[in-house]
Amino acid sequence: MSENKDPHVPQGTQGVKFVYDFTEGNKELKDLLGGKGANLAEMTNLGLPVPPGFTITTEACKVYLESGEEPAALRDEVSAHLSALEKAMGKKLGQADDPLLVSVRSGAKFSMPGMMDTVLNIGLSDKSVQGLAKQSGDDRFAWDSYRRLIQMFGKTVLGVDGELFEDALDKAKQAKKVTVDTDLDAAELKKLVTKFKKIVKSEAGRDFPQDAREQMDLAIHAVFDSWNTDRAKLYRRQERIPGDLGTAVNVCSMVFGNLGPDSGTGVAFTRDPASGQQGVYGDYLQNAQGEDVVAGIRNTVPLADLEGIDKKSYDQLMQIMETLETHYKDLCDIEFTIERGQLWMLQTRVGKRTAGAAFRIATQLVDQGLIDEAEALQRVNGAQLAQLMFPRFDEDAKVEQLGRGIAASPGAAVGKAVFDSYTAIKWSRSGEKVILIRRETNPDDLDGMIAAEGILTSRGGKTSHAAVVARGMGKTCVCGAEDLEVDTKRRRLTVNGHVVEEGDVVSIDGSTGKVYLGEVPVVPSPVVEYFEGRMHAGADDADELVKAVHRVMAYADRVRRLRVRANADNAEDALRARRFGAQGIGLCRTEHMFLGERREMVERLILADTDEERENALKELLPLQKKDFVELFEAMDGLPVTVRLLDPPLHEFLPDITELSVRVALAESRKDHNENDLRLLQAVHRLHEQNPMLGLRGVRLGLVIPGLFTMQVRAIAEAAAERKNAKGDPRAEIMIPLVGTVQELEIVREEAEQVIADVERSTGVALKLALGTMIELPRAALTAGQIAEAAEFFSFGTNDLTQTVWGFSRDDVEASFFTAYLEKGIFGVSPFETIDKDGVGKLVRDAAAAGRATRPDLKLGVCGEHGGDPESVHFFHEVGLDYVSCSPFRIPVARLEAGRAASTSTGSDHR
Ligand code: ADP
Ligand code: MG
Ligand code: MG
Repeated sequence: MSENKDPHVPQGTQGVKFVYDFTEGNKELKDLLGGKGANLAEMTNLGLPVPPGFTITTEACKVYLESGEEPAALRDEVSAHLSALEKAMGKKLGQADDPLLVSVRSGAKFSMPGMMDTVLNIGLSDKSVQGLAKQSGDDRFAWDSYRRLIQMFGKTVLGVDGELFEDALDKAKQAKKVTVDTDLDAAELKKLVTKFKKIVKSEAGRDFPQDAREQMDLAIHAVFDSWNTDRAKLYRRQERIPGDLGTAVNVCSMVFGNLGPDSGTGVAFTRDPASGQQGVYGDYLQNAQGEDVVAGIRNTVPLADLEGIDKKSYDQLMQIMETLETHYKDLCDIEFTIERGQLWMLQTRVGKRTAGAAFRIATQLVDQGLIDEAEALQRVNGAQLAQLMFPRFDEDAKVEQLGRGIAASPGAAVGKAVFDSYTAIKWSRSGEKVILIRRETNPDDLDGMIAAEGILTSRGGKTSHAAVVARGMGKTCVCGAEDLEVDTKRRRLTVNGHVVEEGDVVSIDGSTGKVYLGEVPVVPSPVVEYFEGRMHAGADDADELVKAVHRVMAYADRVRRLRVRANADNAEDALRARRFGAQGIGLCRTEHMFLGERREMVERLILADTDEERENALKELLPLQKKDFVELFEAMDGLPVTVRLLDPPLHEFLPDITELSVRVALAESRKDHNENDLRLLQAVHRLHEQNPMLGLRGVRLGLVIPGLFTMQVRAIAEAAAERKNAKGDPRAEIMIPLVGTVQELEIVREEAEQVIADVERSTGVALKLALGTMIELPRAALTAGQIAEAAEFFSFGTNDLTQTVWGFSRDDVEASFFTAYLEKGIFGVSPFETIDKDGVGKLVRDAAAAGRATRPDLKLGVCGEHGGDPESVHFFHEVGLDYVSCSPFRIPVARLEAGRAASTSTGSDHR
C-alpha cells in the first residue's frame, strides 16, 4: 500500500513529462524535443551562452492534435517552468516596468518548411513597451520590437495577410523618404504600432492580446496546429516523413540584436557547405533581429568582417564553432545574436551540404581524427555519389537563370523548348534535341517524354507524373517550377517578364532544379573520369573531390560482403563495368544478339516448316553467337559471366503487325505477291499474344522451339573452350529465365549437359560451366527448395518478380496510375525503384533460405535495377545474397552502399 498514487494527477498522464528545461535535454532527444530543442539543450550543457528557456515535447503536440486539447498537465508544467525562468531572469513575462520577453519557436525532429514561423518579443504590450524603453534607455528599440511582435503574431498566429503589414511599413518609409527600417525613429514606429493594431483588429476580428501569457499560449497552439498545414503535409509526404511525429515548441528568453550598432545577428557554418573547406563562412547584420539577416532587407557583411566590428565577440564565436565541430564531429550551422557586445547562441544543427562536400568533409574529419572510416562511410550515401556522376553544367559558364523548380530526376539537359509531345517527337526525329515543357504531364505525354532530353513542368512535386516517369526512364526532370507560366496554347512560357518561345534553347539541371535560358555548356563529371581511369586519385594535382571519393570507395570495398556485378551485354559495356569495379557479369542478355542483320536468320528460324530449315537457320546463328561470347569472356577474363538464354517473346523479332499488314495489302493491290511477307504476316498473327509478358517466353521458348537453347549453350561452351585454348580463364554461367517449376529446368539442364559434354569431347577441353536459373515468378520463389536441386545458382529477377507479384505490367502502370498511388500514399516509392520488402522481398528472403537448405553452396544474386538502388542493396545484404548486379553506371553506388550496409550490419554474417 506504499505506492499511493497522487490523487491530483489524472490517470494515464502520471509520470509523463511534457516540458523540459534547456538544461534537462540533450542532442539524442530529437524525437521528443525536436531538432532545435535537443540542440539548444546540448549547447546549454556544453556551457555555451544560450538564452535560458524550455521545450514543450512532441508528445504534448501529439495529444493536442489527437484530442483537440492540450494535455491536462501541460498548463501547470508550463507555468512551473515559466516561473523558474522568470526567477532566473529576475523579471516576469510581460512585467510592466521591466518585461521578460520570449520567443516561441517550432521545431520538429526534421526541419520542415511549412511549419509555423517563430514569433519573437512575446510579452510586449502597450504597457510593457514603455518599461522596455526605460530599461534599455532606447525608445526606438522598444517600439521596433513591439511592431515586430504585432507583425509576426498577426501573421503567423492570427492568420492576417503579412503583406498588409509590409505595405504599411513601406508607406511609413516612403513618408519619411527613407529606404531601410533602421531609419524610422521611435515616433514613427509608435505610429506604425497603432496602424498594425488596427490591421489586426479589422482582419482577425479581435484585438491584439495585451496579456503576455495569452500571447504565449496562443503562439504555442499555433505551432501545434502548424504541423497540419497543407504545405507541411505535402512536404512530409514528398520527403517520406511520418505524419504522426508532431512538433516540439521552444520557449526561449529574448536577446536583442536590434539594440544599436554594437548589436546584430548572424548565421554561420563551421566549414564551407559547398566544398567542405574549413574557414569563416557566414553573414552578419548589425542592428538587426531574427530573420533580418536572411531576409535581404539590408545588406549583410561577410562574417569575417565581424572581426573588425567586434573582435571580442568574433574570437569567442570562432572558439565556439570549434567546440561545436569537435563535439558534433561534423559540419554545423549556427544562428547567433550579439546584444551590446555580448554573444548569444540561438541555434545549431548538423548542417546540410552538397554531395561533393559530404565526401570531402567525411575524409577531412577522418584526417582530423574526429571520426573513423566506418563512420565516414555513414556520412555519405549512394544518392550523393550518383549525383556526382551525372554530367553537369559548367560552373564557370555565364548563365541566365530563368527560375527554379524541384530537382526531380538528376542530370543536365539542353534542348529547344517544345510545349507538346507531338512536336517533341517530330523535332527529335529530325535530329533536334528538345526539352518538353508542360504545366504537368499525363500518360498521353509518354512518347514525348521519351523523345525529349529532359522534362520541365510548372506544377507538381516529386511524386507527380512527370517526376515518377522521368526517374523510371533515367531522364532529367525539373518539376513544379512555379515561377514559370506555361502557356501550351500559345506555345511559350513567361517568367519575370521574360518570354521563351517554342524553339528557344533552354537548359535544365535535374540535380538542383535550376532552369536556364540558352545553352549552358556541359562538362563531364570528374568522378566519372576517375572511375573511367582517366583521372588518378594519387596524382598530386588530383581534384580534392576525386581523392575523397577514392578513399571512401576504398573503405567501402574493404568492408563490404556483397559482391557487385554488372548487367552488360557486350564487351564494351563489360570493359567499362570492370573499370567501375564490377566483379563479373550478373546478367548478359542474349536478345540483342538476334537483332540487326541477324534478324533475317531469326525470321527464317521462326518460319521454318521443316527440321532441316530450322537447323540451317540455327547453324548460321551459332558462329555469330560464339564470337560474341568469346569477346565477352575475354573482356571479363577471370570473372564470372552469367549468360541468360533467350528471354523475350519471338514476335519481338518480327516486323510490326500494322506495318506488315499495310505492306502486304499494298503489294496485293499491285498484284505483286511477296510470298515471304505473306508467311511472315501469318507468323505474326500466330505469335500475337494478349499478354506477351505472361506468354511464350523464357524457358518456355527453349522447350517449344527445338534446338534454340542448345544452340546457345553450344555457342557458350565452344567460346569457353576457345578462350581456354588461348590460355584465358573464362567463367561462364548459363542462366535459364522464367522458370516456374523444377521440371522445366530439369529438361533444359539435361539437354545442356549433353551439349557441353559433346563440346568437351570434340575440343578436348574440360569445361566447368555452372547452370542455374532466374527466380522471377512467384511459383519459382515458392518452390525454390525443389528448384535448387537442378540449379547451381539463383539470380533473382526482381523486375519481373515485382511485376508478377503485384500483377503490374510496368510499362502500363508506371505511366498511368502510379502517380495516384504515390499521392494516396499507397506506397512511398515505386516498387520498381526500391524493392517492396514486405511482399517481393519476403519471397526473395524465403526463396534464398529454401534454396540454401537444399543446396548449401547455392550461389545467390540479384539482377535487375534494384541491384543498384541504395535501399534495396541494404536489403539484399541483410538477406544474405552473394552479389548484386546492376547497370555499369550504378556499380560505384552499389559498391558504396554494400559497404555502408556491412559496416552498420549488426545481424549475423550469413556466409
Ligand atoms: P527557424 O526554424 O526558421 O530557423 P528560429 O526559431 O530559429 O526559426 O527563429 C527565427 C529567427 O529568430 C532566427 O534568426 C533566430 O535566431 C531568431 N530568434 C529565435 N529566438 C530568439 C531569441 N530568443 N532571441 C533572439 N533571436 C531569436
Ligand atoms: Mg533558426
Ligand atoms: Mg525477366
